[in-house]
Amino acid sequence: MRRQLMTGLFLLLSMIASANDQDKHSPEKKGLDDYEQQRQHMMREIRRDFIETASHTNGLRLSKSVAEALNSTPRHRFVPAHLREIAYANRPLNIGHRQTISQPFIVALMTEGLQLQGCENILEIGTGSGYQAAVLSPLCKQVYTIEIVPELAASARERLQPWNNIEVVTGNGYLGLPEHAPFDRIIVTAGGDIPPALLEQLAPGGKMIIPVGPVSQIQFLTVIDKSSDGKITQDSILPVRFVPLRQR
Ligand code: SAH
Repeated sequence: MRRQLMTGLFLLLSMIASANDQDKHSPEKKGLDDYEQQRQHMMREIRRDFIETASHTNGLRLSKSVAEALNSTPRHRFVPAHLREIAYANRPLNIGHRQTISQPFIVALMTEGLQLQGCENILEIGTGSGYQAAVLSPLCKQVYTIEIVPELAASARERLQPWNNIEVVTGNGYLGLPEHAPFDRIIVTAGGDIPPALLEQLAPGGKMIIPVGPVSQIQFLTVIDKSSDGKITQDSILPVRFVPLRQR
């Protein structure tokens, strides 16, 4: 009896082990499992940063839906291969062409600042790696993201193929994207002046988040609201440092 029990237990354990092995051999599963702990660590750091910056961010909190979007986006696929091991560190990383993928906390904060309901048409200026667009994807209806460096636009387009509500456009986002305007939300992930075209292309009742200030210096993350009668108000929150928003 005792021996039968032991044999049964052994069989059960080997079945579990072989099921795990199978998971590991599926590329999708392997990618996610290998980074699970790092992603959890990233989420803890993001939560900590929300608490530490609360006095500068108008009490913005990390919502369940935004946390879930970050937690289910494979950031390691958005960084160059040699940086994959530190993909989930809470810091910006180089993606080539003198550009960066933003720090995870800033991605979380900007996403939260947009106050998405799920039905929005969003414009992102500065596709970069495509990570921010991928985080926005499950939280809205459609993301148009525009990138001025053709090589970055091409690789992001390729990488984002599995996300079916994201369209990557190659071009100058300082001019917006009139053919798909108006936008319920606009997110600018490069720092500089507020582009007049973006104010025009923001829908009444819409919201934009943008780092405003001198290029290559400290900017202020700024939330801009357009009321239903077209009145613009703006509120500067956290000091940040973004790569320059090019005008041409
Ligand atoms: N959102 C990105 C990070 C942005 S880095 C991510 O998640 O990885 C800023 C990007 O803005 C760079 O790739 C830069 O080339 C791009 N950029 C700068 N000025 C631009 C402009 N006028 N139009 C479109 N893209 C611009």
